[in-house]
Amino acid sequence: MYFDLKHVIRQKQTLFGKTEDSRRSEVVFPPFVADSPPDGPGEFGHGVIIDETSLSEEDSRKFKDGWKKNFFNQYASDKISVRRRIDESDKDWFKQCSKKKYRPDMRAASVIVCFHNEAWTVLLRTIHSILDRSPPHLLKEIIIVDDGSTMDHLKEPLAKYVSALDKVTLLRTSQMEGLIRARLLGYSKATGSVLVFLDSHIECFPGWLEPLLDRIAESPYNVPYPMIDAISKRSFSLKAIHPCCVGTFKWMFLVFAWASYHSDDPTKGLYDPMKSPTMPGGLFAIDKDYFAKLGTYDDQMNHWGGENMELSFKVWMCNGTIEVIPCSHVGHVFRDQSPIKWKTGSQLVRNSIRVAEVWMDSYRKYYYDTFHSKLGDYGDVSERKLLRKRLKCKDFGWYLKNVAKEVQIPENHIISGEIRSMAAPVCLESTGVGGHVMIKPCHGVGYDQHWYMLDNGEIRSAHQTSLCYVSETPVLVAAKSCRGEKGWIYTQDKTLMVDSNSVPQICLQASPGKDSLTAKPCNSSPWQKWIFENYVKK
Ligand code: UDP
Ligand code: MN
Repeated sequence: MYFDLKHVIRQKQTLFGKTEDSRRSEVVFPPFVADSPPDGPGEFGHGVIIDETSLSEEDSRKFKDGWKKNFFNQYASDKISVRRRIDESDKDWFKQCSKKKYRPDMRAASVIVCFHNEAWTVLLRTIHSILDRSPPHLLKEIIIVDDGSTMDHLKEPLAKYVSALDKVTLLRTSQMEGLIRARLLGYSKATGSVLVFLDSHIECFPGWLEPLLDRIAESPYNVPYPMIDAISKRSFSLKAIHPCCVGTFKWMFLVFAWASYHSDDPTKGLYDPMKSPTMPGGLFAIDKDYFAKLGTYDDQMNHWGGENMELSFKVWMCNGTIEVIPCSHVGHVFRDQSPIKWKTGSQLVRNSIRVAEVWMDSYRKYYYDTFHSKLGDYGDVSERKLLRKRLKCKDFGWYLKNVAKEVQIPENHIISGEIRSMAAPVCLESTGVGGHVMIKPCHGVGYDQHWYMLDNGEIRSAHQTSLCYVSETPVLVAAKSCRGEKGWIYTQDKTLMVDSNSVPQICLQASPGKDSLTAKPCNSSPWQKWIFENYVKK
């Protein structure tokens, strides 16, 4: 049975008698659907398709405004109950997971949700899905942390709304602090001995919490995270995905990436926990004492990003294990871009440099290699280095060798840097999608235009170091996983990039006005000439 929130709020008001509160002007909640019938919009994870052309002028304005403010379809979300049903009990994952037995000594969690200018119905759905789908004895509290939001609905209306909800506490940072310090504020007030961090645009599936807490009951050094299912940013449709992947990272930007998972343990089934070299960072659970022992987060990190890599590296290096839990499902609205801006621009590089300086030992050069600018001012990391020393953790070489095994180290490169055409100011650029490579104007900052040539002639992009580029007859250049075969020969004198396996010789070639790369019989055309120089950091 769905409760009527207004009723609850009224109940709470009368509970305290007619005090000052009732004399103040009534708080007006933004419109939302509290409850809807089983065939209502978006129920059971269905999407809501909005035909923009049929909207009235006012609705069309709301529709556009929703996209502009959130970079997702707020208008669609507003049509869906904030307590919509999710039922996947007929799905294989649910049937298999329902058979699992969880430990009786699981501890109740403090769930921490930070937000900056989150949409009303999206935030409410986040909160209600946690309340509705967590066994009461395993949910100590929900701490929501407003990180300097400016939207009106997050002021008094939100305070009023959550005051009627049991177990929910609202905290506010005094100014926008960024995700990392906002989470630390939530952590400092948490009373549970297990923490669960979640984003503010999520929906928990039935049974999401138990399998996470079970892992922590098994060992406080287990750091589990759920399967992260996509809530469509267009329609808000939501379905559970199949377990497939675990987290890894790329040298470029030191960002999180997914990698396919292969268990070397034949007793492990599809729905058993999977060891994950890194975590995406938005959603995970951790024992509070272990989090404290690890030095929580680096509170000098600003805005967003890098904190998930810091935690991933130090968990593994300091006795812990990060795992994806296939029986725990949480939906998340993915966006290509965030509407949340930091006052001085993206802080990802600065945060990541802090991680690299403290945790990555000499391997940090492979990250630094991928951007051609100076490190800049990344603040003081001496305390974080002392923390690492105190913890006596394993080193980054151990982590790469034993945990993040799929991360290729471009160790034996003989040349690195831009591969620049001599015919035009264009460079090889990796798109990051299936190893696809294009010819683009040289931007000079590295990243997707930073390449390595190994001593066996393999060409690898800093973007995807596990891929090698081969010429495929007649004209294609394709990415393959590297097998240590002989690759290209760069002839410094003639500046040609020759496929060492080809007879007659095939050369890498750009074409005027085209962004695709080809491989053609070698000739003396300037479009086959390349400058590939060792890049020396300024
Ligand atoms: N967030 C925050 N302060 C910030 C940036 C982000 O509180 O300065 C919140 C944001 O509202 C969200 C979470 O942190 O709930 C993660 O951010 P986001 O969803 O933009 O990251 P993504 O999921 O795209 O990685
Ligand atoms: Mn998010």
